[in-house]
Amino acid sequence: MDHLKLLCDIGELNWIFSDRASTKAFLQRIVGIVATHMRADVCSIYLFDEGKCELTLKATKGLHPDSVERVRLKLGEGLVGLALQQLEPVCEPVASTNPHFKFFPGILEERYESFLVVPILRGTARIGALTVQRQQDYPFGDKDVLALRAVASQLANIIENARLLFSLQEGPRAVEAVDDLGDLRFIKGRVASEGFAFAEAVVVDRERFLGQVLSLDVDRSYTADDFRRAVALTESQLRNVQKLVGEKLSEDASLIFASHLLMLRDRSFFGAMTELIEAGESPPAAVFKVAKHLIDLFAQTEDPYIREKAHDLKDLTMRLLGNLVAERENESIWHGRIVVARDLFPSDLLQMSSEGVAGLVFVGGGVTSHLSILARSLRIPLVIVDAPRLLGISEKTMVLLDGETGNVYVDPHPSVVSNFQAAHLARAAVQAEKESVQSITLTADGTRIHLLANINILADLKGARELQAEGIGLYRTELPFIVRSTFPSEEDQYAVYRRLVEGMPGRPIAFRTLDIGGDKVPPYLHHPTEHNPFLGLRSLRFCLQNRPMFADQLRAILRAGAGAQVSIMFPMVSSLEEFLEARDILFSCRDELAREGIPHIHGPRVGIMIEIPSVVDLIDDFAREADFFSIGTNDLIQYTLAVDRTNEKVANLYVAHHPSVLRTIRRVMDAARYGRTEVSVCGEMANDEKYLPFFLGIGVRILSLDPLYLPRVQRAIARIHLEDATRIAQEVLAQTRVDAIGRILEEYQRTSLRGIGQAIAS
Ligand code: PEP
Ligand code: MG
Repeated sequence: MDHLKLLCDIGELNWIFSDRASTKAFLQRIVGIVATHMRADVCSIYLFDEGKCELTLKATKGLHPDSVERVRLKLGEGLVGLALQQLEPVCEPVASTNPHFKFFPGILEERYESFLVVPILRGTARIGALTVQRQQDYPFGDKDVLALRAVASQLANIIENARLLFSLQEGPRAVEAVDDLGDLRFIKGRVASEGFAFAEAVVVDRERFLGQVLSLDVDRSYTADDFRRAVALTESQLRNVQKLVGEKLSEDASLIFASHLLMLRDRSFFGAMTELIEAGESPPAAVFKVAKHLIDLFAQTEDPYIREKAHDLKDLTMRLLGNLVAERENESIWHGRIVVARDLFPSDLLQMSSEGVAGLVFVGGGVTSHLSILARSLRIPLVIVDAPRLLGISEKTMVLLDGETGNVYVDPHPSVVSNFQAAHLARAAVQAEKESVQSITLTADGTRIHLLANINILADLKGARELQAEGIGLYRTELPFIVRSTFPSEEDQYAVYRRLVEGMPGRPIAFRTLDIGGDKVPPYLHHPTEHNPFLGLRSLRFCLQNRPMFADQLRAILRAGAGAQVSIMFPMVSSLEEFLEARDILFSCRDELAREGIPHIHGPRVGIMIEIPSVVDLIDDFAREADFFSIGTNDLIQYTLAVDRTNEKVANLYVAHHPSVLRTIRRVMDAARYGRTEVSVCGEMANDEKYLPFFLGIGVRILSLDPLYLPRVQRAIARIHLEDATRIAQEVLAQTRVDAIGRILEEYQRTSLRGIGQAIAS
């Protein structure tokens, strides 16, 4: 048997697949080819649904056709389930003698006792199983096992691509068009970025879009001229976006679009499509076929820089296909619209912001997710709702988004709209008044509190300066880099960091080293898919495993810090060793720069972020080693309570004022006071006035927050007497229940506001 030929034939099939866009037919072809090559009477493919932990027969040659979709096996059930559970082939000369054998009446399997099944895996991820069967007298041997394994590994890639491209796993993710709005008229969501918008909706659902494009009847008459027009339109859109992003944001983020432009006119992209169209292929099929071929090629290479291009290509192909089939005019589709989306790339957010999007509604995600943080930096109102059906509303439906309360109204009654518009105007007036911030923040009894800014992208600097931030308490170095399309060199990073330092002259700046992984994975890094990304190769762990990259960043920070008050902190530290190892690398970068005679900061303060509960029991030891602590409450809450900060389904459990969270923070404060280690709080709890009495009461004097909240927090601090704060802190720390703490904090907030009201009235 020529196994090589078998593999070649399967490889060829990839092309047939992209032509027909039919997964069923594709799988059916596979089983046919494999059965013929392996002289098997039966060949079947099962796919695994991770959610249900179940295998379903998807295609068969030799079993009864009705068994497709009907035969289902749990993991570990039957020989097929067993193979997938053990991640090993099972080869049986007489299948029914194996105790795991499961008999399905009516599928006609009993005639084919000689049985071989291999799991289809990608790494250790379970994708499905491939089986062959013959009559009892013709058992399978080792060579057959090898051959079927090779086919299965080739299939794994193809099926994963198919899942990605054709949304093979329909069902829960497929969104029905919504005819009757019903309960969608009013949705209570969660505010991720404040603001108000009332505008037409535009739904961004990539999976649905691709499905629509691929199910188009390709005989519909798209001509070569349509294709050229779509390319020209794409080109001019990209140039516009590039210009707008360049003007609006001070990052080099517009580079993303430059690389799309280059690709668009590349011979292997545009040239290959043109050739196919000239040879008679329909334009949508030509675009899809060429793009798919390149995406596959790029995705397979070892070189991360080339692999990263696959992501850009997908983006570009979507845009081109959209322009080809949707025949859009050369206008921004985001301007003044509310985007309803399942997920977006950071580059999408940049583009939408540069084109003046009015607001965003995400169906899923968390308010402390990094996309939410970026939306706040870009000042785009964003509400997160748990209502996937919203993706089915028709384009141009009017949506009112209230980014103060988190309410989303779909096709609202005019009276709702006028009420909101009035309230919005009133809020805008308050907004204007609150810009009168002071350069110094004092409590009611005159204690100095330092308010610093969290900076996510350089564009935040302006707001931070205008709102009198005393420095930068957290610079999230990774955010500028997840919006790019390649990892920046030391020089690129130095240029960005230097602009940051020059943008805050004479004030302290805390650089947080790269915190990628979790919900921040730059596409070009090709971070392995992890089952638990927040518990995986994230943050400092990633840096310690990728030292050259880490050293590039540390050198860039040290150089940018020359002559400035720069400190450096490591995120997600979980043990003393990790901190000491990272600090050693930092020191060796510093020594290296000294030897090379390159200007740099000689003695930066070095600190850690308190985000993982495991450092809390060691906090006295950390206090001896670190120059400062910065409490990252977003992650500290997530890891203390084991609640994914990005998961809307458990958002009600993500409670900042859980007694364990508050006591942990107090513990850190006590150790820091004893060890004379400086402490600040930089997570989003610092944005929330409700927690101020607690923080001040336990001794926190430095807060770092989104610049947007600076005036409000400053005013709230001015209302607090330290004596009251200490009492409130003691009171909440004595509580054991979340709701009791919530009530105390809210009651204090209400009475302090009432006090203000009475003072004004008298
Ligand atoms: C935090 O975890 O609180 C924090 C400030 O870091 P990030 O939100 O970037 O994870
Ligand atoms: Mg964090």
